[in-house]
Amino acid sequence: MLPEDIVLHKDRETIWPASANVLLVRDSDGAILVDVGCGYEDTYLRLKEFISAQGLSVADIHTVVLTHAHPDHMGAMRFLLEETSPRIFLHPVEIPLAAEPSRLNHTFDMALPLRYGINPFFLEKPDILEYFSNLCPMARAEATHTIDPDGELVLGRFTFRVVVTPGHANGLVSLFEPESGMLFTADAVGDVVAWYSPSSGGLTGFLAGLDRLAALPASFVVPSHGGISESPLVEVEKTRARLLRREEKIVGELAVEPVSFPELASRVFASPMIAFFPGPQILQCHLDKLEAEGRVRCRGEEDGWRVELA
Ligand SMILES: [Zn+2]
Ligand SMILES: [Zn+2]
Repeated sequence: MLPEDIVLHKDRETIWPASANVLLVRDSDGAILVDVGCGYEDTYLRLKEFISAQGLSVADIHTVVLTHAHPDHMGAMRFLLEETSPRIFLHPVEIPLAAEPSRLNHTFDMALPLRYGINPFFLEKPDILEYFSNLCPMARAEATHTIDPDGELVLGRFTFRVVVTPGHANGLVSLFEPESGMLFTADAVGDVVAWYSPSSGGLTGFLAGLDRLAALPASFVVPSHGGISESPLVEVEKTRARLLRREEKIVGELAVEPVSFPELASRVFASPMIAFFPGPQILQCHLDKLEAEGRVRCRGEEDGWRVELA
């Protein structure tokens, strides 16, 4: 289980849009936080209560490691930075996103549905930050240190191996601690399958990341959303199976008849909540993979965005 000096903070709920789990690593100078959770005041107050319960104060947090620049992981920086100035570590490609979060509109491919004429909410200019503001407000943060994507990260007495798992975010970082066998999977593996988009690494990136996680000699998994599991491989394969089940559904629909991209999106993602985001983005990831494998053909606008089996 969790080694001494590492404590997990789980907020009331753990499934998006709830706050991501927070890890606190204690050292002789105070403590390090891995992610800080959602940008709501009450969420932040609960984080502070958790820090106090460890006999520490916010001023003792000398370092913050952000697994990626998403609001449920870094939103609370808006409050934390008012009280203290920790070192902030991020994967290099996440640094500009944390500094200027409107750039997330690109990594989330917010323009993609419009290209296919999908616009159920009649948005003039879809803005991911507006979407987030109702669910889990984003913050801005300037990184002071980069996480070496191929290297290690020393936090307190622990040396974590950095494992990059794109798909959901290009610079999404999982952390493996060999001594205890702890694998902190962030959003790559957990109780829900995180959304993925072409500009965040796509499905191919997601699956390659799962391969990297599966290859680690981990003895337990700590996800950002959900609880600790002592079956790392089962958890990784559960996520992979969910991704491949979605692919099967898509291929199954196309086996019945060729359909347009918007029609296919509405058949695969029936909920209007995800009809604009992240349904079409996820579908595009699957079609990119299937097309690269020569299994489907995607036609252009002149052919009504028809998708068919190859
Ligand atoms: Zn995320
Ligand atoms: Zn998350």
